[in-house]
Amino acid sequence: MVSTSHTEAEESAFMTDLLSGIDDSFFDAIPSPDRSSKMRKTPSKSPKKPFAVSSLCTSVRASTFADTTHHQQNLSPIRKKAVFQTPRKPKLKHNENRGSEKDSLGSLLEGAEDWDWEDMDSDFMTPKKSVKRTSYSHCHPNDPRPPSTRCTVKEVRVTKDNGLYQKELTVVVESSSQHRRVILQDDWFDVYIRHGDEINIIGTFSNGSTSIDDISRASTSSTPPPATLPSISLTSQPTSGLLILHPDLLITATSLSSTPTCVRKPILATLIHSSSDVTPALVWGNMLHEITQSCLIDWTKGESEWDEREIDQKVDKEVRRGLGDLLRLNVTVDQAKRELKLRAIGLKAFRERYVHDTPKPEAILTNTRSERGQSSLLAISGLHDIEEDIWSPKYGLKGKLDVSVQAIIEDTITNTSRQYTQNAPLRPSESLSVASQTHPTPLELKTGRSTQVMEHRAQTMLYTLLMEERYATPVPSGLLYYTQSDEVVRVPRTMNEMRALIQKRNEMAGYMMRRIPSEKKGQKKEGIKDVEDFLPPTINDTRICGRCYVVNTCMLYRKAVERVRDTSSPISDIYSLKTSHITPTQAEFFKKWEYLISLEEHDLIRFRKELWTMTAKERQSHGRCFADMILDELYRHDISTPQTVSKRESRIHQFTYRFVKANALLGIHNPGDSLLNGHMSVGDAVTVSVEPDLLALVRGFIVSLTPDEVVIGVDHELSLSVIRARRPYLGQDGSPIAFRIDKDELFGGMGRIRENLACLFYADGDTQRLELVVDLRAPRFTEEPSGPLAPEHEAVAKVLKLLNKNQEAAIRKVLSTLDYSLILGMPGTGKTTVIAALILLLVCQGKSVLLTSYTHSAVDTILLKLKHVDFKILRLGNVDKIHPDVYKFTLAALKPATTIEQLENQVMSPPVVATTCLSIDHREAKRGGLDVSLFKRLSEAHPEAVVDLTDQYRMNEDIMLLSNRLIYSDRLRCGSEAVAKRSLRLSNFDFLDRLHDSTTKRCSNHGCWIEHLLNEKCKVVFVDTDDVPARDSRVGDLTQNITEANLVHQVAECLVGCGVAEENIGVITLYRQQIKLLSHRLQDHKGIEILTADRSQGRDKEVIIISMVRSNDSGQVGDLLKDWRRINVSFTRARSKLVIFGSRSTLQAEPLLKEFFELMDSKGWILQLPPNADTIHSSLITPTSTPRKRTVIDLTQDDDSPSPRAPSRSSKKPRRGGVDEGLLKGRPILRDLLNGTS
Ligand code: SF4
Ligand SMILES: [Zn+2]
Repeated sequence: MVSTSHTEAEESAFMTDLLSGIDDSFFDAIPSPDRSSKMRKTPSKSPKKPFAVSSLCTSVRASTFADTTHHQQNLSPIRKKAVFQTPRKPKLKHNENRGSEKDSLGSLLEGAEDWDWEDMDSDFMTPKKSVKRTSYSHCHPNDPRPPSTRCTVKEVRVTKDNGLYQKELTVVVESSSQHRRVILQDDWFDVYIRHGDEINIIGTFSNGSTSIDDISRASTSSTPPPATLPSISLTSQPTSGLLILHPDLLITATSLSSTPTCVRKPILATLIHSSSDVTPALVWGNMLHEITQSCLIDWTKGESEWDEREIDQKVDKEVRRGLGDLLRLNVTVDQAKRELKLRAIGLKAFRERYVHDTPKPEAILTNTRSERGQSSLLAISGLHDIEEDIWSPKYGLKGKLDVSVQAIIEDTITNTSRQYTQNAPLRPSESLSVASQTHPTPLELKTGRSTQVMEHRAQTMLYTLLMEERYATPVPSGLLYYTQSDEVVRVPRTMNEMRALIQKRNEMAGYMMRRIPSEKKGQKKEGIKDVEDFLPPTINDTRICGRCYVVNTCMLYRKAVERVRDTSSPISDIYSLKTSHITPTQAEFFKKWEYLISLEEHDLIRFRKELWTMTAKERQSHGRCFADMILDELYRHDISTPQTVSKRESRIHQFTYRFVKANALLGIHNPGDSLLNGHMSVGDAVTVSVEPDLLALVRGFIVSLTPDEVVIGVDHELSLSVIRARRPYLGQDGSPIAFRIDKDELFGGMGRIRENLACLFYADGDTQRLELVVDLRAPRFTEEPSGPLAPEHEAVAKVLKLLNKNQEAAIRKVLSTLDYSLILGMPGTGKTTVIAALILLLVCQGKSVLLTSYTHSAVDTILLKLKHVDFKILRLGNVDKIHPDVYKFTLAALKPATTIEQLENQVMSPPVVATTCLSIDHREAKRGGLDVSLFKRLSEAHPEAVVDLTDQYRMNEDIMLLSNRLIYSDRLRCGSEAVAKRSLRLSNFDFLDRLHDSTTKRCSNHGCWIEHLLNEKCKVVFVDTDDVPARDSRVGDLTQNITEANLVHQVAECLVGCGVAEENIGVITLYRQQIKLLSHRLQDHKGIEILTADRSQGRDKEVIIISMVRSNDSGQVGDLLKDWRRINVSFTRARSKLVIFGSRSTLQAEPLLKEFFELMDSKGWILQLPPNADTIHSSLITPTSTPRKRTVIDLTQDDDSPSPRAPSRSSKKPRRGGVDEGLLKGRPILRDLLNGTS
């Protein structure tokens, strides 16, 4: 039986913990995504009964039996604690009322337009300057939420008031640039706050008071005299306001609730996502959650009485869905069903007692804080949502609520000390008052034999705050339902506890922010920055630390990052046990790589906070948001085709919605506003919000995208009526609700990557890999390859026959390896073939193979070669991104398993498992070495482990010449004469004849440029657009070239018209915006692939057309075109013909490309286009073409470059020397080859 009642002593111990001294040392760390999302599964399909506005709002009915002297507020007693209290000062006058206060939540979104978002060099937490912007006015009369003012701290002074120390902050309101004063007294004094910190002040400022000190100080200070400053005092009084430090760090309520035991623990838990903590309690808990939630959903549909049969059905369903977990727990289906049915036994009673329109007499609500003579009854009268995910940048909190219900609570108070008992009739001498209120209320389900009741209370209390934020109606208490004890506990929100929790939150945030180095421009950037310690010290409690679930991580950080020497503390034995094996070199390695991961993470966090620090329009201009989107209510998605959606994804993809641009609905179509502009593409994770404060109402992925519409698959239902109920001011004028759809960069997070790194260093970790990767121990090889090289297996023999000597040597090397070997394959040398052959051989030898790459396409290219093998292959990953021809290898393609054995067979038996791995794209992280692949590290340390593949079978000799001269020192060879002489023959010349029927004259003066390109002898050509001209232009911070897109389109049309199959044509550009433009132009030729350089890896096409995009008077080439790795990948995709469109005058300014032009010149491979070449062939000009823009906006940056002003990026790239220098000598370009080229 779970004990949910607590003694006064226990509760006060908890409070003391909560409030106990905040440590002086403050450090920092990085938050990662909500752990609770991992702990909890996403809900099943949940059509819910939306509540009308009236049912949300508090309705109070007080029925008086006898004594009416009890007022309603007496019924929710606030336990007053005398903690850190100081003598009260006279109350400040509150002159500003909330209605006129412009600095409420809307202020979060103010001033952000002037932040230097472009510049990653700047400290991203510091706004460049604050300029007043029109605020959202969102308050409405019933809105109970206190105002919040976002400020930056300008000055911190310690002063004395009535003999007690206090901190006086001078702050600047971000929305108005006005100065104000914040006085921190009592326990607020301990907040570790510094100049430049960002804070939210929850509460109302009043006109300031002046001290003599103030006046004298004012004469020497640049800030206005404090006398004129509106001010607020934060104290330990229940009515006091709150201060939220670093509010952009959204800390989860679950992690915050565990801070009283150890603040270090939740910080570490946000850093590292452990995948190994599947415990029976967790699995049963998750399943019971699902069952209870599903029961509640059925009830709203009027379909359920929660009888045994129904519950059994739900248990069966849940067990089927959770086979994966059962497999990990090593539990059979029958055992699981028995266990769950036992645990679900109380649900029926819960339903009968509590789920009702009005409180039943037996529906007793436990309230450990009740006053004498008070008792309460509960009715759950409605369901608002399941697993509601609420983000609050006002409080710097987020959380996922198990169940959001409408609760009716009836409080009864007798005026005698006699306890109210249900069956005892009232005696005449007793009088009784009953009051009933209804509110939206968070209901937390607790399924285990938990000992953490205090943490549960804290968590639930925080949820009341989050719910109030989202519902904009009072949420005075939360509910905890302990399934094992059939008890429902009321958790009233009390200001004292809330304040204590917020102070713990601030402590956590203070540490976490120390992780983010504040870099000033021009500061040296190499190496690990001197960040302050970002973890609180260990608590050194043998009992608690011994049982702590992050003890491994905690001790690893203590050793490798904090370099603690400890031989005497109570936990010194644990410390030594966990870390004595770690050498100084290993510690250094962990510290460095952990830091580089955190840099990558900072970008993600920075992008995420744009959701509330930037308006939709602003963010849209940066390509990371669709603003003003209207929900298409008539859209119906056929949900009956889940074939392409795996089980896990189906949980994310519960509902499908279409949104249309508001302008498009009005008939306004401006190509500059196209949704295809920007960084958001199909498959990207997104959040859907309504400004200003309904953030991330639903989350999901882009399913399809056109210039005016986007279809997204999401995890929750979106209901316009619910949104209007919560924000009545929306659409009051009859206008539709405008949504913003934001790219959600932090969807995946870095916790898993960090965990993988940490696993190398744990005491029971992967010692072999630690030695090989970190210590660089030499790999071992046997004398002879193990196993036969040409086994009887027919398929193997067939594959082996296709290999050349070079490739066979590579295979031999691998088969003789005991640790690792490295195959360096230059482009077209048949890496894919070698890998496919290797997989066949290894499987024949009874080995299992993990096939992985950074990109889906690289993985699938290899799998395509294994399409017909007779062994099983398991392809993991997002099915939307998997090649249709290898879909058969995914779990989604298989019959759903119904038993553990079936699942085991599906998951464990395939000898080949294929999936993608993660890549890193942070500029500074790259500089620090995060893009130095494992391959480079190992091949440089042990060249003897490397085999080269040099015979290439892709490019004809002209195409090969380009990279052979420019990069590979002529080491590449054509594998055969047929390859060397390969060319593109056209089958249908009629098309060209027709093209010229009406335009022959215009073309013949110069010779037809299109005919020239299509000529079989033309194998490599640079098409110079300088005379056309074809200038680049900007869309937000993205670069495009409309004319060049039109030219590429025309060539593609002609190729197809002349009989080249669409599948044989590929278009590559390095610019995302150009990709979108080209996709639109070529929408009628779905077979033509349009790729970024990265996505083209591992691919080839008979013809490749490259659009270089950059064309401008200022000679701005941008960082992308300085990235020789990507250029090289693009050049080496073509088999027979390579056509490169670009502006010679612009591009040759770049030294690297200058040498390319010298080579092209010497070969006569440059074609100068005539003026207006794009309009010569009138039959090719499509209606979709838009007028060419001749104005060139100032072009300073690339879209793909993480930093638009990243001057030193190119200097760190391996620079190609003279053509003859041959960079492969000494392998300095290895990184390029390894990280990219295939
Ligand atoms: S091991 Fe101890 S100090 Fe470390 S996080 Fe856990 S409880 Fe805190
Ligand atoms: Zn022509």
